[in-house]
Amino acid sequence: MDGRLEREITYLKGVGPKKAEIFKKVGVETVYDLLQYCPRDYIDLSEPTELAKLRPGDEEPAAVRVRLVKKLPAAYVRKGLTISKAVFTDDTADVTVTLYNQEYTFGNMKEDRQYVLYGKVTGSLLRAEMSSPMIFPGDSEDLIVPVYPLTEGLNQNFLRKEVKAALDLLGDDSPDIMPQYLLDEIKLPSLKYAWENVHFPRSVYSAVEARRRLIFDEFFIYSLAIAYRRSTSDELSDYVMKRHSMKPFKEILPFSMTQAQMNACADCGFDMMSGRRMNRLIQGDVGSGKTVVAACMAYFTFKNGYQSCLMAPTEILASQHYETFKKYLEPFGARVCLLSGGLRPKQKKETLAGIADGSYDVAVGTHALFYDDVQFKDLALVITDEQHRFGVEQRKKLSAKGRRPHTIVMSATPIPRTLALMLYGDLSVSVINELPAGRKPVQTYAVSGKMRERAYGFVKKQLDAGHQGFIVCPAVEESELDIKDAKSYYEELSRGAFAGYRLGLLYGKLPAADKQAVMDAFKEGALDLLVATTVVEVGVDVPNATIMIVENADRFGLSQLHQLRGRVGRGGDEAFCVLITDNTSPENVKRMKAISGTNDGFKVAEEDLRLRGPGDFFGTQQHGLPAFKIADLTRDIPLLEKAQKLSAEVIEQDPKLTRGRNRDLSRMVQELLRRGSEIS
Ligand code: ADP
Ligand code: MG
Repeated sequence: MDGRLEREITYLKGVGPKKAEIFKKVGVETVYDLLQYCPRDYIDLSEPTELAKLRPGDEEPAAVRVRLVKKLPAAYVRKGLTISKAVFTDDTADVTVTLYNQEYTFGNMKEDRQYVLYGKVTGSLLRAEMSSPMIFPGDSEDLIVPVYPLTEGLNQNFLRKEVKAALDLLGDDSPDIMPQYLLDEIKLPSLKYAWENVHFPRSVYSAVEARRRLIFDEFFIYSLAIAYRRSTSDELSDYVMKRHSMKPFKEILPFSMTQAQMNACADCGFDMMSGRRMNRLIQGDVGSGKTVVAACMAYFTFKNGYQSCLMAPTEILASQHYETFKKYLEPFGARVCLLSGGLRPKQKKETLAGIADGSYDVAVGTHALFYDDVQFKDLALVITDEQHRFGVEQRKKLSAKGRRPHTIVMSATPIPRTLALMLYGDLSVSVINELPAGRKPVQTYAVSGKMRERAYGFVKKQLDAGHQGFIVCPAVEESELDIKDAKSYYEELSRGAFAGYRLGLLYGKLPAADKQAVMDAFKEGALDLLVATTVVEVGVDVPNATIMIVENADRFGLSQLHQLRGRVGRGGDEAFCVLITDNTSPENVKRMKAISGTNDGFKVAEEDLRLRGPGDFFGTQQHGLPAFKIADLTRDIPLLEKAQKLSAEVIEQDPKLTRGRNRDLSRMVQELLRRGSEIS
């Protein structure tokens, strides 16, 4: 690369400071950026239609190859509005074209010359018209015309002109950002070819082929920046742990850990002794027993004389984890506290003081742990449960609390590794791919609302056999929409179908103490059936629960449904999940089939990702994935994999990108990091 690509956009003729400002809004600052600014679509002029075949009112615009017969006199309507008209023909029919305020274009057009018009036909069969069509000279070689995404102050012609100018500037010896040794490896078109064919393709096929190269570059520079940052940042740990046998911990458990659980513990232990800071994702399907692994690592940290904390996305889950941690850690003399939003001021003050002076070894809590008044004495391990519910910023804030604590994030949503790399940089992953012995798959059925009564009957059978169940609704309050809301459904069921059973109502906004009371009652078996919103989605652990009904199941994501049904069948008894939905769209039918057909969370997640794309996949909350300009994280995953693999190789050979042959790449990476794009 010789600097031409890095020239500021104002270097191009026709781009002054004003236009540069507008360009900046769409992320274009340099010549390189402009060339990477891809058309959102193309107009194909290569196969014009005969005018006689077009019908006024046709929905699709069409291209016609015509000759200018006659210009009609321009009409000056009022200040700021001049109308020009001209008649064209292709010898099958005539068309009258109207242009507004385009005297200049109009003036340059010559009678008897060929033009290609692109637009919609209006008027009548006898008198076809086109209003403001795009007009191209008939001898133009560009038969496939790019259509760019616009913003105020940018128009198509201007963009086409400037992109052409940029390509001309580069000329025949157009530089490539990829050094030759990598170009040989990626087996994609050269950058020059790619740009020419993305902007002015010879065929739609060549545009697609060319775009692959640009997508690859976008992924590659991004992945390289992540890998580079990881390799240059000081990741040494402030907490180098010593070996401690985990055997005493294992021995107090009421069950023996699965091999997969033990492997995950070993991975973490090894990381924490390595001298480098641990950054590990533990993925395990619902019910695979991630909590015990977390407790084991808190034990290990305690044995090393440091504090750890566990953060959960809901109060219910936090208090449940708190109970578990107390049970497994107190026998060793560790002190565990719960920091929740529901604490009274005095309790809270004591808890905070205990965390700060180190009398608590383990703190469990919700986002309350983020607050600035929480200070730890010596926080060496931060565990986050169900991490995708937390924003990236929140996570960073918490790890900033210790010096440089080790981190574990636990997720039941199997994030494909490619995406995980995007979210967390270069993290290590342990997968718990084994359920505790004796677990049976949750039998899942999707049915229509007509089957509701039968479903109730089925639930009653389970309850009569001494089991418990859930009914999950998508909303809390009644609304205009025809969806079940927990509050009125609870009333309805208590008086109707489930009169005589002990029902509970649970939803997110319920005061913390009430929520706790309901959960406790359900856990102790004092309630038979819990009518709830998705607050039960994560972590609620009641082994005696064997049946769940989900109302308006089409309103939930597949991964979410999988999480939900993971609330039942945790005790080894056969368990059931009935999904009720009246949505008969092919898409929903496909989704319901997918979820009923497998109990494998990884498969469900893959399907979910495929059907909804990564944005929705992670829920409506900020998912932390970068916004790519050209690449699409759903469609282009194979290119992403390729880019990640190659960038890892480059960094492995040249960790700080100082070698001559990587000089251009290093500059691209610095530029990306300078612009502060949201690299996690
Ligand atoms: P998740 O991975 O979904 O967070 P949990 O940690 O909540 O799963 O564990 C689910 C249930 O399985 C809990 O009741 C837990 O005590 C139990 N459990 C965990 N590990 C084992 C095991 N190895 N054998 C038997 N039961 C286990
Ligand atoms: Mg869990």
